[in-house]
Amino acid sequence: MEGNTDKPNDFPVENLPYGVFTGPLNKTVKHIGVAYRDLVIDLNHIANSFDGPLLKDQQHVFMQESLNAFMGLTRAHWVEARETIQRLIRTNDLFTASHSKRPTVQMRFVEMHVPVEIGDYTDFYSSIHHATNVGIMFRSKENALMPNWKYLPVGYHGRASSIVVSGTPITRPYGQTLPVEGAAPHFGPCRLMDFELEMGCFVGGPPTALGQRVTAQEAEDRIFGFVLMNDWSARDIQKWEYVPLGPFTSKNLGTSISPWIVTLEALRPFICDNFPQDPEPFPYLKHNDNFNFDIKLEVDLKPEDSSAYTTICRSNFKYMYWTVKQQLAQQTITGCNLKPGDLLGSGTISGETPDSYGSMLELSWKGTKPLRLLNGQERKFLQDGDTVVLRGYCDNGQLRIGFGSCEGKLLPAVPFTQ
Ligand code: CA
Repeated sequence: MEGNTDKPNDFPVENLPYGVFTGPLNKTVKHIGVAYRDLVIDLNHIANSFDGPLLKDQQHVFMQESLNAFMGLTRAHWVEARETIQRLIRTNDLFTASHSKRPTVQMRFVEMHVPVEIGDYTDFYSSIHHATNVGIMFRSKENALMPNWKYLPVGYHGRASSIVVSGTPITRPYGQTLPVEGAAPHFGPCRLMDFELEMGCFVGGPPTALGQRVTAQEAEDRIFGFVLMNDWSARDIQKWEYVPLGPFTSKNLGTSISPWIVTLEALRPFICDNFPQDPEPFPYLKHNDNFNFDIKLEVDLKPEDSSAYTTICRSNFKYMYWTVKQQLAQQTITGCNLKPGDLLGSGTISGETPDSYGSMLELSWKGTKPLRLLNGQERKFLQDGDTVVLRGYCDNGQLRIGFGSCEGKLLPAVPFTQ
């Protein structure tokens, strides 16, 4: 009844990530669910179990079709919800027949959806190894990092409408590229399709007012939880279009996220040392605690004509130079207002070693070092039919929790006729 406990599972009682699903009993109306082992706990059906002092008057947030209302409460509410669900599991109350509506459903029978109405999406560039690699490839070793990089978390405002849930196929885009430096640009299908291994952070808490800053020291109560994120990137389109205002259509063709939001509460046992920062950040970017996370990250690639998944990257969220608190402080330093459900992308997460690079651009070093897959094929960039799978988990020897996976298959370009 409580699922298969024989294999390592991403979703023990210490995790309890939130998602939004449709299932056999709610085919048209989305319900909020919590992943527990191989079950989904249907919060819509047990909303009246949230009878603690903070949530007893807020049970409606569990009966919405997105997590925004719940995320717009406070950390104290989120903690009370977590403790309530843990108590229901530990007392076996969820698994008895006393509920009028079925409180759980097998995970294999549900379809997951983007769990949040994402108002705004920002993508940062906060892994020093990734920024250095890209800088070396496109400039030089001496000028790899731009002069601003160690002073502020660089980012750009992305496109929320094209964020999709894991499993959604991505179509190779058309666009303008410059195949030969100095020659005329070319219009056609992207030839250098890439993935980017990232994590996304969902903002929570009540909306802030325009003009209100959130310093790094104050940022914690604005952080609801994390997902895996694949920021699909059309490298050749990006290279031609990004000057001088940054990425545009090369990044808006689809961004995949994993369906389960792992909360900050669940991640606390895996907090690790911050990346050493030199020079010292400005005061608004400083916080006096560790807020980095030991989250092991992997990327698998499966060609269409093969069943073999080749692990092409092993990285870790702890390689982030800038913390999420610092990203939030940078986002709001001008008084930019936050809304619950805003999404902050980490930027591609690369480690020091070549097997930890979080994009094909770096793994194949701009196409000069093809990767060999288990089926004998080689890859410089992604080919049509390739499936990219991101996985993430934390394991400190005593406890393991995971993020599930973030998957997407690259479909061929739709022919452009005029
Ligand atoms: Ca990115």
